Amino acid sequence: MDKKNNIKVYKNEKTTITVNENWCKSCGICIHFCPKKVLVSNEKGFPEAKNIDDCIHCNLCELRCPDFAINVKKNEIAVEHSVNQKGLED
Ligand code: SF4
Ligand code: SF4
Repeated sequence: MDKKNNIKVYKNEKTTITVNENWCKSCGICIHFCPKKVLVSNEKGFPEAKNIDDCIHCNLCELRCPDFAINVKKNEIAVEHSVNQKGLED
C-alpha cells in the first residue's frame, strides 16, 4: 500500500542513489551502462547500488533509464565542511 516503501535510497558520504521501484521495470539498462559496476541486480531484478563507493557521478544510469526510476546525487557535505573549516581558520 505505502508506495514510499518501494523507494530505495543508497547512500555514503559522497553519493546518494535513489531507485524508485514503483517506476523501475527491471530492464537492467542502468546496470549495463554503469562504467564502474556500481549497480547490481537484486533478487527482484531492481538495481541495487552495491558498490556505491565506486560511483563517479557520471549520471549515465540516470540518463539512460527510460522510466526516470534512478537518480544520482553528489552529496555536498564534504564541501560544506571544508568551507566551514576555512571560515574558522580566518
Ligand atoms: S552515476 Fe555513473 S558511476 Fe554512478 S551509478 Fe550511475 S552510471 Fe554508475
Ligand atoms: S534503467 Fe531504469 S527501469 Fe531499467 S532497471 Fe535501471 S532503474 Fe529500472
